[in-house]
Amino acid sequence: MSAPHTPVERADFDQVIVPTFAPAAFVPVRGLGSRVWDQSGRELVDFAGGIAVNALGHAHPAMIAALTEQAGKLWHISNIYTNEPALRLAKKLVAATFADRAFFCNSGAEANESAFKLARRYAHDVYGPQKFEIISALNSFHGRTLFTVTVGGQSKYSDGFGPKIEGITHVPYNDLEALKAAISDKTCAVVLEPIQGESGILPGEQAYLEGARQLCNEHNALLIFDEVQTGLGRTGELFAYMHYGVTPDILTNAKSLGGGFPIGAMLTTNEIAAHFSVGTHGTTYGGNPLACAVAETVLDIVNTPEVLEGVKARHERFKARLLQIGERYGVFSQVRGRGLLIGCVLSDAWKGKAGAFWAAAEKEALMVLQAGPDVVRLAPSLIIDEADIDEGLDRFERAIATLTQA
Ligand SMILES: *Cc1c(COP(=O)(O)O)cnc(C)c1O
Repeated sequence: MSAPHTPVERADFDQVIVPTFAPAAFVPVRGLGSRVWDQSGRELVDFAGGIAVNALGHAHPAMIAALTEQAGKLWHISNIYTNEPALRLAKKLVAATFADRAFFCNSGAEANESAFKLARRYAHDVYGPQKFEIISALNSFHGRTLFTVTVGGQSKYSDGFGPKIEGITHVPYNDLEALKAAISDKTCAVVLEPIQGESGILPGEQAYLEGARQLCNEHNALLIFDEVQTGLGRTGELFAYMHYGVTPDILTNAKSLGGGFPIGAMLTTNEIAAHFSVGTHGTTYGGNPLACAVAETVLDIVNTPEVLEGVKARHERFKARLLQIGERYGVFSQVRGRGLLIGCVLSDAWKGKAGAFWAAAEKEALMVLQAGPDVVRLAPSLIIDEADIDEGLDRFERAIATLTQA
């Protein structure tokens, strides 16, 4: 029997948690599918999906079964040994993608950290120590470690932590000429999100991603796609690169992969993977049996035509209604994104006010996200019911009606 719980409330956050976040006024305690309940018993519709993580919603029975079954067998064994869930998950990811090999870790930032280190090590081994420059896009987001904030194109996240990692250049996204001007034989990697997520759900243009691939080939640079947010079915293909037919050398994924259990993965080819030999990189928890057992179940369910087609169909259902709402209240200039990664771009009159939409939605018992100050982001469960979509959109419309009348 566990000890009785100490009563806690939102106000405790301000006393005992390091203030890196400013969470909502309510405390969620339970979820089922695309509904969440808070401490007071209020029921919310979840269009936030734990920031594009809860791919199968809350408390999915297959995930609970996978987790509890594995919990009765083996939680952790370290990478001095391998384990069955990690081997099965790697085999399935390799079978489903361009990759030959997987490296498991615990988060998106760690997956990117691994990718950037691997790209540098590969260039160092194959071409020499002068080839270490990394090019990434302005406004990109790659995580919060010192290397990943430095590669990320937002100085608000990387300034003020002392000397940055050297050799990183930022270019405007979707600007092939700028990339062409920046790339050189010193470039070891170009890192791009196929859809820029955190900074506003901005999709990469076909010609841009194709051109980036071409430029990397010409300069012996690796193309890294950060699919931490876009991967594992979020966009209606298993990975967003599949929409474009542009294959990266290294791909990173996290968020939806664990469906709520922390896991990250870096996928790459045999040739590149060989440069991470024993001891060059590592992790204590990466490939943890619990995480891999859950992720295997998420992958099994998501990587089916039913679920992936369902994501595309749900996109259309969201988009039609969001366009209607945008027009009726004059709040959106554009609804963009793919699959269930949707950005409602605020019109000029509402620019900078994504936070007000987030707060107004919460008052109507709806969870949404921001993606920068100008975009309201929706990233619900990939299997959200039509009834929940409609109910959530009704609540969203009521929130916007109230907001625009105020
Ligand atoms: C969320 C995100 C990350 C960071 O993932 P963490 O799990 O928070 O470390 C990196 N890249 C992209 C594109 C993301 O959306």
